[in-house]
Amino acid sequence: MSTEPPIYVTQPFLPPLEEFTPYLEQIWNSRILANNGPFHRELEQALGQYLGVEHISLFANGTLALVTALQALRITGEVITTPYSFVATSHSLLWNGVKPVFVDIDADSFNIDPTKIEAAITPQTTAIMPVHCYGRPCDVHAIQHIADNYNLKVIYDAAHAFGVNDADGTVLRHGDLSVLSFHATKVFNTFEGGAIICPDAKTKTRIDHLKNFGYVDEVTVVAPGINGKMNEFNAALGLLQLKYIDQAIAERQRIDAAYREQLAGIPGIRFLPAADVRTANFAYFPILVGAEYPLSRDELNDRLREHNIYARRYFYPLISDFPMYRGLPSARRENLPVATEMAFQVLCLPIYPALSGHDQERIINMILHP
Ligand SMILES: *Cc1c(COP(=O)(O)O)cnc(C)c1O
Repeated sequence: MSTEPPIYVTQPFLPPLEEFTPYLEQIWNSRILANNGPFHRELEQALGQYLGVEHISLFANGTLALVTALQALRITGEVITTPYSFVATSHSLLWNGVKPVFVDIDADSFNIDPTKIEAAITPQTTAIMPVHCYGRPCDVHAIQHIADNYNLKVIYDAAHAFGVNDADGTVLRHGDLSVLSFHATKVFNTFEGGAIICPDAKTKTRIDHLKNFGYVDEVTVVAPGINGKMNEFNAALGLLQLKYIDQAIAERQRIDAAYREQLAGIPGIRFLPAADVRTANFAYFPILVGAEYPLSRDELNDRLREHNIYARRYFYPLISDFPMYRGLPSARRENLPVATEMAFQVLCLPIYPALSGHDQERIINMILHP
């Protein structure tokens, strides 16, 4: 057993504590704690500007935002989605009484394979819910093309994609809605939080009603909404975090580059190609442990744990293997060969702004000399 302190797959980024005091003082003085207060409004503005989107609605967490996004578009029937994600993606469908239909992923991107979507469409299909897995953009044009042909909505689970751009701007502009998570483990955090990005003011108004019980004014309720509101404490945290986000992403990029350089050429270890420094967020560092490596993925994971290094098998098990999904015809492993193989090979290595060079060396050395 190692005597070194533990290293987890991620460590939430926190600004200096004293910088949060003025925000707390303002909350204490104003006694405004919730319900679209000044920090909530300011964070919506600031995030819109930072992310390059016009309409954004803040939520208490990403899961409530996903559930509400489906409500906002009145999604029913069946929705095509990926099994290779965090379980909240599919859970949001079940909470809406919608049947998930799993489609396999693409081996080069970990994202839903657009060439397999059409075969999964039935008369009940109303939408596609892809995930920008690890913050790598989906094939958004191929997905939109199919959605247009079949008159389907597209809701992106963009929980990993904070600050990610493609050649023409933010990846969050694609589809009908995109959903972000600001959970402690994500690139940008408000302890817990989330948001829906939408294309127009009318949709934002509907989403704002839905997250506040359906209230339009004191005496008017237009929908069976939920309490999904972000409070002033979390919004203030977001405003402070935003001041450090570029620095935090730059630190992640440095760690990503060091892994790439030092893990290159190990037989049996593969990883995604380097992302464009100007457009990526370096949210995760997944490796694939193949047959040529001396240890299996699980053996490597155990070996790292013996040395107090806690990597994570994101995403294993596949969502489609959990009990509430595995009875679905689309959940059969024969339907999901690529996702199944990836789930048994993947290991996400620690990556976060405070990861020291010394600690990263320990991780790399363990993989080089298992
Ligand atoms: C984190 C995450 C969510 C859920 O977000 P919360 O803010 O934790 O509710 C949903 N989907 C994906 C892909 C995630 O990684």
